[in-house]
Amino acid sequence: MGNWKMHGGLEANAKLLADLRAGAGILADYCTLAVCAPFPYLAQVSSLLDGSAVSWGAQDVSAHEKGAYTGEVSASMLNDFACAWVLVGHSERRAMHAETDELVADKAKAALAAGLTPVVCVGETLQEQDAGQTLEVIQRQLDPVLALGAEAVSRLVVAYEPVWAIGTGRSATPAQAQDVHAAIRARLAAVNAAQVRVLYGGSVKADNAASLFAMPDIDGALVGGASLVADEFLRIAAA
Ligand code: PEP
Repeated sequence: MGNWKMHGGLEANAKLLADLRAGAGILADYCTLAVCAPFPYLAQVSSLLDGSAVSWGAQDVSAHEKGAYTGEVSASMLNDFACAWVLVGHSERRAMHAETDELVADKAKAALAAGLTPVVCVGETLQEQDAGQTLEVIQRQLDPVLALGAEAVSRLVVAYEPVWAIGTGRSATPAQAQDVHAAIRARLAAVNAAQVRVLYGGSVKADNAASLFAMPDIDGALVGGASLVADEFLRIAAA
């Protein structure tokens, strides 16, 4: 799953989407491919990817259904553009928009209620990792989401994204990521949702993807920078 973040423009998107559409065909037999685009481009993405092997989504959603929430975008609005996915709780939103664990769970709930699949992002900062708090932080972030109940949890995706690995070129090692993914899997299993897909995110590139995907509890990747280059993104999918 690609996260374009705040990148793109009509012209550049058209080329990227055409390249993805052309390259995705056979890969889609083996994996799910998706891109999460900025809100203004969802109409373009839905029209250029319609009928292709690549699905699409947004990078955030309001916890509210409708009303006086200037600047927010509701889950039903995302449905108007046939979004399948929506990221919730990306670390950039937690850090820069003060999103709490509870708000992230409310967003996941709103997305599920509208039939979208939320991709719940969790991950520790470098400081928290250095302090040995990784699993504690992940558990704290996941708890309000797990409290939504087994049925809801079974319909979402979790992305483990250590903050220190995002956009830094410094990916977690496969073993480091696997340890955290196994802990997340155990938490999911405790609410009867062990089959939920757990993606790894943080400087995933074509040359480190295969070693990450070889880990038993890493089901895929949430890819930032490398998702802006069609060939690199398709090579990650091929891995
Ligand atoms: C992300 O934005 O979710 C991400 C993982 O970014 P990058 O792949 O660039 O580290």
